Amino acid sequence: MIMQFRDLQKQYQILQTQIDAAIQTVCRTGNFISGEEVSSLERQLSEYVGVKHCITCGNGTDALTLVLKAWGIGAGDGVFVPDFTFFASGEVVSAEGAIPLFVDVSMDTYNLDPDQLEIAIQQVKEEGTCVPKAVICVDLFGLPADYLRIEEICKRYGLLLLEDGAQGFGGKIGARRACSFGDAATTSFFPAKPLGCYGDGGAVFTNDDETAALIRSYAVHGKGQMKYDNIRIGCNSRLDTMQAAILQVKLEAFQKYELEQVNHAAQCYNELFSEVNLKRPTIPEGFYSSWAQYTIQLDQGRDAVIAALREKKIPSMVYYPKPMHRQKAFDGTISAQADCPAAEYLCGHVLSLPLHPYLEEKEQKEVALALVEAIDFVKAK
Ligand SMILES: *Cc1c(COP(=O)(O)O)cnc(C)c1O
Repeated sequence: MIMQFRDLQKQYQILQTQIDAAIQTVCRTGNFISGEEVSSLERQLSEYVGVKHCITCGNGTDALTLVLKAWGIGAGDGVFVPDFTFFASGEVVSAEGAIPLFVDVSMDTYNLDPDQLEIAIQQVKEEGTCVPKAVICVDLFGLPADYLRIEEICKRYGLLLLEDGAQGFGGKIGARRACSFGDAATTSFFPAKPLGCYGDGGAVFTNDDETAALIRSYAVHGKGQMKYDNIRIGCNSRLDTMQAAILQVKLEAFQKYELEQVNHAAQCYNELFSEVNLKRPTIPEGFYSSWAQYTIQLDQGRDAVIAALREKKIPSMVYYPKPMHRQKAFDGTISAQADCPAAEYLCGHVLSLPLHPYLEEKEQKEVALALVEAIDFVKAK
């Protein structure tokens, strides 16, 4: 058996009976769009997260877009986004005609740095380049961002806060779950995310009735009282009934044991690496991660380490190789002018290792052994 970076086949083997039954039920009833499973999943998700409304949609990128549309964010507006994240977090801002303003992250948590956010807000206000409207804050690699401080900063400056919880579902700060922070939150059910389906899927969470109603409209062609009464330009973004049925089975496993198991596996890596010359992930006191990734930092020789792991058939990934403000898509825009040394450093030094709830201790020991050898080899050179 070749080690998987994230083993979805093993998960299917364990849940197969229930998943197959769920799929067959949808086939028999024939409600492939907006079936009963969609509304019951929305109820389960909102209860789990602890938020009044959950609106499922086509994917995590659409979820972000729907929130920006509901908030009326567009031309001339500025939205602060961490410089170290998946492209979609900033892409959606530009797609709505607004300007993503990239802010540096913490070297320890990889998440948006509240001090840098405040500096960036003051700078935009002084320079008047755009009207700052919102912050999109990412729960990178499963760890909730520092919402206690970021919520306070957003209130003080009158900015809306959107939690991009695509990687964060299941995380916590104290008793508060990820996807419950800010004015609205989103997640993704892309297969490799902490809670994944068997295709594309996403959801928006909010306590605000008006935002929820607007999102339900935007997601179905700007519908009014009914589907053929169209009162605004929207889009088509829905979660398939089949995906909702699969997610119901997976959510149960996620709550019952997967989240615990992946935390156990992360803890096991922490112990295996305690004496190794690498920087382990930092989880601040009171925070709980859903471990979308286990991401270490190597001070030198990352490429050689990746090659040495590959030699032993151990997969590893670089999330992310390029800071947002250096992406070609932003060339020549204000967004490209960000100054983010921490994000730059991380892009050159991070490495994500295989991690999922079904990873075995013996596999983790293999990873650790190969990693130690590779690091020693790089140092000796
Ligand atoms: C995956 C991801 C998205 C986009 O989700 P999709 O379902 O792939 O559209 C957005 N933001 C972050 C941080 C992500 O990791």
